[in-house]
Amino acid sequence: MTELNFDCKKCKINFDCDVGKISFPPNEERPRFEKDIECPLCGVLSMDEVWLTELGQTQLTRVYMSRIR
Ligand SMILES: [Zn+2]
Repeated sequence: MTELNFDCKKCKINFDCDVGKISFPPNEERPRFEKDIECPLCGVLSMDEVWLTELGQTQLTRVYMSRIR
């Protein structure tokens, strides 16, 4: 399980979300998550409805680095 930190664009709260397995398709800008991003208040959200926080980006980079090693 992989937790990433997001900010919800709708209700502006900050939350941790378990996105399951993360894959990095070579031809896509965005990583793909196994599970949906779910805000505790708004429910399931798309990538466009959340911001990945600085912490979330650090977490994502760590996953990416461990994958390519
Ligand atoms: Zn929300």
